[in-house]
Amino acid sequence: MTESIHRKSTQSALLLIGILLTLLALIGHRFFPERRLTIDSSREGANFFPVPMGHGAHADFQWIDQANFHYFCRFPQGESHQGCGFAYMLSTGVASQGIDLSRFKALNLTVRYSGSAQYLRVGIRNFDPRFSKLEDLNSPKFNFVNIPSGDLDQPLAISLSEFAVAEWWTAAYNLPREYTRPDLSNATVLNIDLQGDLAGTDHEIRLEKIEFVGDWISAEYWYLGLLCLWMVLGTAYGTSQWLTMRRAHRAQRRQIVELAHEKEKYQKLSTMDALTNVLNRHGIEQFVASLGNGSASASVIVIDLDHFKHINDERGHDMGDRVLRTLGEILRAGTREADAVGRWGGEEFVLVCPGTSLANAADLAEKLRHKIMETNFIPEDPLPITASFGVATSADAQGFEEAFRKADQALYQAKRRGRNCVVAADEELMHRVTGASKGTWALLSGRFKIRK
Ligand code: GH3
Ligand code: MG
Ligand code: MG
Repeated sequence: MTESIHRKSTQSALLLIGILLTLLALIGHRFFPERRLTIDSSREGANFFPVPMGHGAHADFQWIDQANFHYFCRFPQGESHQGCGFAYMLSTGVASQGIDLSRFKALNLTVRYSGSAQYLRVGIRNFDPRFSKLEDLNSPKFNFVNIPSGDLDQPLAISLSEFAVAEWWTAAYNLPREYTRPDLSNATVLNIDLQGDLAGTDHEIRLEKIEFVGDWISAEYWYLGLLCLWMVLGTAYGTSQWLTMRRAHRAQRRQIVELAHEKEKYQKLSTMDALTNVLNRHGIEQFVASLGNGSASASVIVIDLDHFKHINDERGHDMGDRVLRTLGEILRAGTREADAVGRWGGEEFVLVCPGTSLANAADLAEKLRHKIMETNFIPEDPLPITASFGVATSADAQGFEEAFRKADQALYQAKRRGRNCVVAADEELMHRVTGASKGTWALLSGRFKIRK
């Protein structure tokens, strides 16, 4: 009991700790370090080169400070130009293997620009083996975002969801719609260049910061992870509770069965006579009670060994016990399953025979008397052993006590008449037997006596 209270309070404490940790984890997500990718000239393997993309123009491109992406462009007057930028190889080694920028949320960009361009275009090439070819440099998907030059000169945070796929690229490759969505999962090249009418003016650009940022683990995944964790823990807890309950239930059932066996054992012990293995007085009383208060009739036979004291005196108490045990066996063997055989005390036994008339009970008593007389109780040292019988009957359960009393009186008569005989204590029967002294019953018994 105290153990289960202790367990319950531990479980409550663990649940509370779990809830607190979950709340901390929910709030803590915003304090997690960010995933960062900085694009600078120090990045090993990144191949950085300028792209003066004029249409046939002889653009003038010069590094002011290459290490800090600081450069200068000038385009001849009167021609349409675009460009003045560079391509930065994001792929390392194999050109088809880029980096996954879809795990980032935003591009932090700080650009100092002076010039007449309308936009700074940030383009990200994404290699998709379904349609990109190594031999066609234009085939990796061109995702881009245009930043109005008025927005420059201040740190910008551009969400990667702002990137769109360039129309000219879509038109050039004429791909199914599902291939023309923005995709940054395998970015191979980063392009930065100017858009608009660039001719005739100087353009000076300094890319102070190019940095992709994102969560180490996205909020979605983090919350989903927590939910899964709770589900796993909940399932594990539920399963363990179920197993514990099942174990307890089985143990309880085992205990109930054991207790039932114990009860049966003790019930049996409390109603059995240990020496002779027949019912004791309590067992007989219970048997009589079990016959109920209905109109069940039964006969009672009381049996007492003759001169048993002599047997004890001559052969010893142990031998006397042996005689009593053998008598118990004879009585059990000589009666029906429905009859109760009991030891009333000392060397006195009782038979209760439900649904048996007095005449039949007297017949049974006679049979048993013969059997006892014929049995050699002590084969190694034979001794004549006989018993006297008193028989009575009761019409219903209420009459049992009276029947016992009458049977006892009949037994007394049998002793008085010289022992080793059966006396029935019924007036009617007495008439019958008395009236027909040569009746089968009396004749069979030989020494059959009638109580007068
Ligand atoms: P009767 O023919 O008049 O019945 O004479 P009896 O000797 O059989 O009767 P009595 O009542 O004088 O003696 C009964 C004896 O039974 C006395 C007692 O020592 C003995 N006895 C009672 N219980 C036991 C027992 O459990 N074991 C043994 N060995 N003897 C017992
Ligand atoms: Mg006796
Ligand atoms: Mg006696």
